[in-house]
Amino acid sequence: MPGSLKTEAIVLRSIRFGEADRVLHLYTPQRGRLSAIAKGVRRAKSRFGGRLEPYFRLQLVLYEGRSELLTVTAAETVHPHARLRRDARALDGASRACDAVARLFADGEPHEGVFHLLANHLALLDAEPARATRGHALAFRLKLLLAAGFAPQLAACAGCGDTEHVVGFSGAAGGVVCPACEASAFPLGEEAHGFLVTALGRPLSAAPDASPRALAQAERAILETLEHHAHVRLRPVSAT
Ligand SMILES: [Zn+2]
Repeated sequence: MPGSLKTEAIVLRSIRFGEADRVLHLYTPQRGRLSAIAKGVRRAKSRFGGRLEPYFRLQLVLYEGRSELLTVTAAETVHPHARLRRDARALDGASRACDAVARLFADGEPHEGVFHLLANHLALLDAEPARATRGHALAFRLKLLLAAGFAPQLAACAGCGDTEHVVGFSGAAGGVVCPACEASAFPLGEEAHGFLVTALGRPLSAAPDASPRALAQAERAILETLEHHAHVRLRPVSAT
Protein backbone atom coordinates (compact mmCIF):
# COMPACT_ATOMS: atom_id res chain seq x y z
CA MET A 1 0.00 0.00 0.00
CA PRO A 2 1.34 3.45 -0.88
CA GLY A 3 2.72 5.59 1.91
CA SER A 4 5.69 7.36 3.39
CA LEU A 5 8.71 5.66 4.90
CA LYS A 6 10.90 7.67 7.27
CA THR A 7 14.27 6.05 7.73
CA GLU A 8 17.95 6.52 8.26
CA ALA A 9 20.05 5.26 5.36
CA ILE A 10 23.59 5.00 4.07
CA VAL A 11 24.07 5.62 0.36
CA LEU A 12 25.89 2.59 -1.09
CA ARG A 13 25.75 3.62 -4.73
CA SER A 14 24.39 6.47 -6.75
CA ILE A 15 23.67 5.86 -10.43
CA ARG A 16 22.84 8.55 -12.99
CA PHE A 17 19.41 8.02 -14.44
CA GLY A 18 17.77 9.89 -17.33
CA GLU A 19 18.29 13.64 -17.71
CA ALA A 20 18.65 14.76 -14.12
CA ASP A 21 17.76 11.89 -11.80
CA ARG A 22 19.72 9.42 -9.75
CA VAL A 23 18.91 5.92 -8.59
CA LEU A 24 20.29 5.30 -5.12
CA HIS A 25 21.13 1.96 -3.56
CA LEU A 26 20.60 2.48 0.16
CA TYR A 27 21.12 0.43 3.29
CA THR A 28 18.59 1.04 6.04
CA PRO A 29 18.31 -0.37 9.59
CA GLN A 30 14.79 -1.82 9.33
CA ARG A 31 14.37 -2.58 5.65
CA GLY A 32 17.90 -3.55 4.69
CA ARG A 33 18.98 -2.72 1.15
CA LEU A 34 16.54 -0.79 -0.97
CA SER A 35 16.57 1.31 -4.10
CA ALA A 36 15.11 4.78 -4.49
CA ILE A 37 14.95 7.39 -7.22
CA ALA A 38 15.84 11.00 -6.52
CA LYS A 39 14.23 13.17 -9.18
CA GLY A 40 15.95 16.29 -10.49
CA VAL A 41 18.87 15.79 -8.14
CA ARG A 42 21.44 16.56 -10.82
CA ARG A 43 19.97 20.01 -11.54
CA ALA A 44 21.93 22.93 -10.10
CA LYS A 45 19.00 24.09 -7.96
CA SER A 46 18.03 20.68 -6.58
CA ARG A 47 16.67 20.93 -3.04
CA PHE A 48 18.74 17.85 -2.17
CA GLY A 49 22.02 19.70 -2.76
CA GLY A 50 24.99 17.33 -2.96
CA ARG A 51 23.92 15.04 -0.15
CA LEU A 52 22.60 12.08 -2.12
CA GLU A 53 26.11 10.81 -2.75
CA PRO A 54 27.81 7.56 -1.75
CA TYR A 55 28.89 7.24 1.92
CA PHE A 56 26.48 9.91 3.19
CA ARG A 57 24.49 8.89 6.24
CA LEU A 58 21.05 10.44 5.82
CA GLN A 59 17.64 10.82 7.36
CA LEU A 60 15.23 10.25 4.50
CA VAL A 61 11.55 10.41 3.74
CA LEU A 62 10.73 8.01 0.92
CA TYR A 63 7.47 7.62 -0.93
CA GLU A 64 6.60 4.00 -1.41
CA GLY A 65 4.14 3.24 -4.18
CA ARG A 66 3.54 0.01 -6.00
CA SER A 67 6.91 0.05 -7.72
CA GLU A 68 9.97 -1.54 -6.13
CA LEU A 69 11.73 1.77 -6.63
CA LEU A 70 10.86 4.21 -3.85
CA THR A 71 11.04 7.99 -4.38
CA VAL A 72 13.10 10.33 -2.22
CA THR A 73 10.87 13.18 -1.02
CA ALA A 74 13.11 14.66 1.72
CA ALA A 75 16.72 14.22 2.80
CA GLU A 76 18.72 15.53 5.76
CA THR A 77 22.38 14.84 6.40
CA VAL A 78 23.19 12.85 9.54
CA HIS A 79 26.90 12.53 8.68
CA PRO A 80 28.57 13.63 5.40
CA HIS A 81 31.90 11.84 6.07
CA ALA A 82 33.68 14.75 4.40
CA ARG A 83 37.17 13.96 5.72
CA LEU A 84 37.01 10.43 4.41
CA ARG A 85 36.43 11.80 0.90
CA ARG A 86 39.69 13.75 0.97
CA ASP A 87 41.84 10.68 1.70
CA ALA A 88 42.36 8.29 -1.20
CA ARG A 89 42.83 5.18 0.95
CA ALA A 90 39.91 5.92 3.26
CA LEU A 91 37.72 6.64 0.23
CA ASP A 92 38.78 3.36 -1.35
CA GLY A 93 38.05 1.53 1.91
CA ALA A 94 34.58 3.11 2.10
CA SER A 95 33.89 2.16 -1.49
CA ARG A 96 34.87 -1.47 -0.95
CA ALA A 97 32.84 -1.67 2.27
CA CYS A 98 29.70 -0.27 0.62
CA ASP A 99 30.22 -2.55 -2.36
CA ALA A 100 30.49 -5.58 -0.05
CA VAL A 101 27.23 -4.67 1.73
CA ALA A 102 25.46 -4.02 -1.60
CA ARG A 103 26.52 -7.37 -3.00
CA LEU A 104 26.15 -9.52 0.09
CA PHE A 105 22.53 -8.60 0.85
CA ALA A 106 19.51 -8.57 -1.41
CA ASP A 107 16.75 -5.94 -1.29
CA GLY A 108 14.36 -6.41 1.63
CA GLU A 109 16.71 -8.55 3.72
CA PRO A 110 17.19 -6.45 6.86
CA HIS A 111 20.04 -6.85 9.32
CA GLU A 112 20.04 -3.93 11.72
CA GLY A 113 23.54 -4.92 12.85
CA VAL A 114 24.85 -4.45 9.32
CA PHE A 115 23.58 -0.87 9.24
CA HIS A 116 25.31 -0.05 12.54
CA LEU A 117 28.50 -1.86 11.51
CA LEU A 118 28.72 0.07 8.23
CA ALA A 119 27.86 3.38 9.94
CA ASN A 120 30.58 2.70 12.53
CA HIS A 121 33.12 1.74 9.86
CA LEU A 122 32.50 4.93 7.85
CA ALA A 123 32.58 7.09 10.99
CA LEU A 124 35.93 5.56 12.04
CA LEU A 125 37.44 6.10 8.58
CA ASP A 126 36.18 9.67 8.63
CA ALA A 127 37.48 10.46 12.12
CA GLU A 128 40.87 8.97 11.37
CA PRO A 129 41.52 8.23 7.67
CA ALA A 130 44.83 6.53 8.60
CA ARG A 131 42.71 3.66 9.91
CA ALA A 132 42.16 2.57 6.31
CA THR A 133 44.50 -0.41 6.67
CA ARG A 134 44.09 -3.91 5.37
CA GLY A 135 43.67 -5.20 8.94
CA HIS A 136 40.83 -2.79 9.64
CA ALA A 137 39.12 -3.62 6.34
CA LEU A 138 39.40 -7.36 7.04
CA ALA A 139 38.00 -6.91 10.55
CA PHE A 140 35.02 -5.09 9.02
CA ARG A 141 34.44 -7.85 6.51
CA LEU A 142 34.69 -10.54 9.15
CA LYS A 143 32.07 -8.77 11.27
CA LEU A 144 29.94 -8.47 8.16
CA LEU A 145 30.13 -12.27 7.78
CA LEU A 146 29.04 -12.63 11.39
CA ALA A 147 26.09 -10.25 10.90
CA ALA A 148 25.04 -12.17 7.78
CA GLY A 149 25.19 -15.50 9.62
CA PHE A 150 28.27 -16.83 7.81
CA ALA A 151 30.93 -16.48 10.50
CA PRO A 152 33.57 -19.18 10.04
CA GLN A 153 34.14 -21.76 12.75
CA LEU A 154 37.45 -20.84 14.41
CA ALA A 155 37.47 -22.65 17.76
CA ALA A 156 37.70 -26.26 16.55
CA CYS A 157 38.13 -28.27 13.36
CA ALA A 158 35.03 -27.66 11.20
CA GLY A 159 35.26 -31.26 9.98
CA CYS A 160 35.64 -33.34 13.16
CA GLY A 161 35.61 -30.94 16.11
CA ASP A 162 39.25 -31.54 17.10
CA THR A 163 40.47 -28.58 19.13
CA GLU A 164 44.12 -29.63 19.49
CA HIS A 165 45.65 -29.10 16.14
CA VAL A 166 44.22 -26.97 13.36
CA VAL A 167 46.47 -26.31 10.38
CA GLY A 168 44.29 -25.10 7.55
CA PHE A 169 41.12 -23.30 6.54
CA SER A 170 38.40 -24.69 4.32
CA GLY A 171 35.61 -22.50 2.96
CA ALA A 172 33.69 -25.65 2.03
CA ALA A 173 33.94 -27.03 5.59
CA GLY A 174 33.14 -23.59 7.02
CA GLY A 175 36.20 -22.90 9.12
CA VAL A 176 39.53 -24.10 10.42
CA VAL A 177 40.45 -27.77 9.91
CA CYS A 178 42.85 -30.35 11.36
CA PRO A 179 45.40 -32.35 9.29
CA ALA A 180 42.95 -35.26 8.88
CA CYS A 181 40.18 -33.02 7.48
CA GLU A 182 42.24 -30.66 5.33
CA ALA A 183 41.27 -32.09 1.91
CA SER A 184 39.99 -28.83 0.40
CA ALA A 185 41.89 -26.56 2.77
CA PHE A 186 44.77 -24.12 2.38
CA PRO A 187 47.38 -23.61 5.13
CA LEU A 188 46.33 -21.13 7.81
CA GLY A 189 49.13 -20.18 10.19
CA GLU A 190 48.80 -19.45 13.89
CA GLU A 191 49.14 -15.72 13.37
CA ALA A 192 46.32 -15.60 10.79
CA HIS A 193 44.12 -17.76 13.03
CA GLY A 194 44.84 -15.42 15.94
CA PHE A 195 44.00 -12.40 13.79
CA LEU A 196 40.61 -13.86 12.80
CA VAL A 197 39.71 -14.73 16.40
CA THR A 198 40.80 -11.33 17.74
CA ALA A 199 39.17 -9.33 14.94
CA LEU A 200 35.85 -11.07 15.58
CA GLY A 201 36.09 -10.60 19.34
CA ARG A 202 37.08 -6.93 19.50
CA PRO A 203 35.15 -3.80 18.57
CA LEU A 204 35.98 -2.48 15.11
CA SER A 205 37.67 0.55 16.68
CA ALA A 206 40.25 -1.82 18.20
CA ALA A 207 40.78 -3.97 15.10
CA PRO A 208 44.09 -5.87 15.30
CA ASP A 209 46.92 -5.78 12.79
CA ALA A 210 49.15 -8.62 11.60
CA SER A 211 51.95 -9.39 9.17
CA PRO A 212 51.17 -9.18 5.42
CA ARG A 213 51.44 -12.97 5.18
CA ALA A 214 48.91 -13.52 7.98
CA LEU A 215 46.56 -10.88 6.55
CA ALA A 216 46.72 -12.57 3.14
CA GLN A 217 45.71 -15.90 4.72
CA ALA A 218 42.95 -14.23 6.72
CA GLU A 219 41.63 -12.54 3.58
CA ARG A 220 41.61 -15.81 1.69
CA ALA A 221 39.65 -17.44 4.55
CA ILE A 222 37.05 -14.65 4.39
CA LEU A 223 36.79 -14.74 0.58
CA GLU A 224 36.41 -18.53 0.49
CA THR A 225 33.77 -18.44 3.22
CA LEU A 226 31.78 -15.90 1.20
CA GLU A 227 32.12 -17.89 -2.00
CA HIS A 228 31.01 -21.15 -0.46
CA HIS A 229 28.23 -19.92 1.77
CA ALA A 230 26.97 -16.68 0.25
CA HIS A 231 27.97 -17.43 -3.37
CA VAL A 232 29.40 -13.94 -3.67
CA ARG A 233 32.81 -13.09 -4.99
CA LEU A 234 33.96 -9.76 -3.55
CA ARG A 235 36.81 -7.48 -4.59
CA PRO A 236 39.92 -7.76 -2.41
CA VAL A 237 39.68 -5.53 0.70
CA SER A 238 42.40 -3.20 -0.53
CA ALA A 239 44.43 -2.38 -3.61
CA THR A 240 47.69 -3.38 -1.94
ZN1 LIG B 1 39.26 -32.55 11.69
